[in-house]
Amino acid sequence: MRADAPVLIVGAGVAGLATALAAAPRPVRLLCRAHDGVGSASALAQGGIAAAIDPADAPAAHAHDTLVAGAHHNDAAAVRWLTDAAPAAVAWLEAQGVAFDRDEAGTLRLGREGGHGLPRIVHAGGDATGAALVRALRAQAQRASHVQWRGGVEVDALLWRDGRVVGLRTRDERGREETHHAAHVVLATGGIGNLFARTSNPPGADGAGLALGLAAGVRARDLEFVQFHPTALDLPHRQGLPLVTEALRGAGARLRDTRGRPLMDGVHPLGDLAPRDVVARRVWQACQEHGAWLDATAITDWPRRFPTVLAACLEHGIDPRTAPIPVTPAVHFHMGGLSTDLDGDTGVPGLHAVGEVACNGVHGANRLASNSLLEGVACGRRLGERLARLPWAARGQGAARWIERGPPLDPGSLAMLRQLMWSAAGPQRDAATLRDALRQCGRWHGWQARLAEALLLAALRRTGSLGAHWRRDALAA
Ligand SMILES: Cc1cc2nc3c(=O)[nH]c(=O)nc-3n(C[C@H](O)[C@H](O)[C@H](O)COP(=O)(O)OP(=O)(O)OC[C@H]3O[C@@H](n4cnc5c(N)ncnc54)[C@H](O)[C@@H]3O)c2cc1C
Repeated sequence: MRADAPVLIVGAGVAGLATALAAAPRPVRLLCRAHDGVGSASALAQGGIAAAIDPADAPAAHAHDTLVAGAHHNDAAAVRWLTDAAPAAVAWLEAQGVAFDRDEAGTLRLGREGGHGLPRIVHAGGDATGAALVRALRAQAQRASHVQWRGGVEVDALLWRDGRVVGLRTRDERGREETHHAAHVVLATGGIGNLFARTSNPPGADGAGLALGLAAGVRARDLEFVQFHPTALDLPHRQGLPLVTEALRGAGARLRDTRGRPLMDGVHPLGDLAPRDVVARRVWQACQEHGAWLDATAITDWPRRFPTVLAACLEHGIDPRTAPIPVTPAVHFHMGGLSTDLDGDTGVPGLHAVGEVACNGVHGANRLASNSLLEGVACGRRLGERLARLPWAARGQGAARWIERGPPLDPGSLAMLRQLMWSAAGPQRDAATLRDALRQCGRWHGWQARLAEALLLAALRRTGSLGAHWRRDALAA
């Protein structure tokens, strides 16, 4: 291994950016699909970051809410570490130039979201928190002398030699391939929303990094746990749907059925602010009948507080200040992923994973709102600091080989696969539909179908309902 062999980080969302910045002074090459680093889920995040900052709050209370939302399937020690690390993660972001919203007295404004017992969500630019974060971290990364930015590339294979990952292959928009050698490779490639017909995720959240990690032999963990956001803007015939942030319900908006009756009355003690899986199933059920609406007409000061939702609604002819917003559940976040510890270690030498592509147990069976930007920042910093200290591996002499994820599906088959996943592995699942979907997947040759099979199998094996994984046949199982 050359003395200057860098750390290669795939992905420029919050997880990849935090890892890159914290790895200083070790040389880092940051690889991502868009030239300017846009296109990540991070940039779309609306609600904010959860942290026990208020004097009346405590990390233990944040941990408690995280465990309850995760149906206690979480790794409790990991949750304690993350919630303890949250206030410092917010302070670090401010030091990187993120201007969180403050009141006239200069105190951080704290929002409240579903599943949180107290207001503890810091936000920036109202509902444009993710964009503010990515902008600040990207500017820091572009200024940092140890970070080399390489946008406009797709990472499509890992290089393997002498029992470890020693590099990767990129392909640019013109199809030109390049081999990059590395001391360490980090996958920070985000989620899998685009395996489904309805998602709040950007098109790049396609599971490519997850598929590559699995091909390299990383163990999959909790793949069946997919979070469905209860309120995406219901636009017929569209796959990628704008999110209608949960912070609106925190500010008093109510879910209603077609006759204007409150949807969540009598369903859960927290009503409209019940955990996401509970609300998503109720909205899904209403959508199967006559539809579901979010009545946010009582909310004031839209342009300052919810500029992103206001703009998305107005673009589609809905004025949320005067009319209820039509909503549908949509795939939002993947709790499962490549099995790692809190250090991002995958168990495959030379390969690390962080952020949504990884599963270190903090989210359990269902993620608490606003905990994933937190995870990306806190775990990214932890991994980066560790990478800065890790010894260089000796240069291997053995034969190198490529680990590939395989050819992609053609667009027609991919559209059918997404529809299949939405109906079989959506908010409600049962054994017969999952088995049938597995049989249909077997007909397709393409890495997305293999990834879908892994998820369907995990959902089939978990015969009971837990968190976001809901088996309507659980009682009969
Ligand atoms: C609409 C929306 C709103 C959300 N709101 C919140 C919120 O308020 N609070 C919260 O905590 N969480 C929120 N989330 C979830 C949160 O944004 C994500 O879980 C988190 O940002 C994931 O960060 P990441 O860095 O792991 O991945 P991402 O931000 O998705 O970044 C992935 C990166 O990997 C790159 N990439 C992927 N595959 C390849 C490849 N093969 N080759 C090269 N590059 C590749 C992409 O280009 C991208 O740069 C929201 C998500 C969405 C979609």
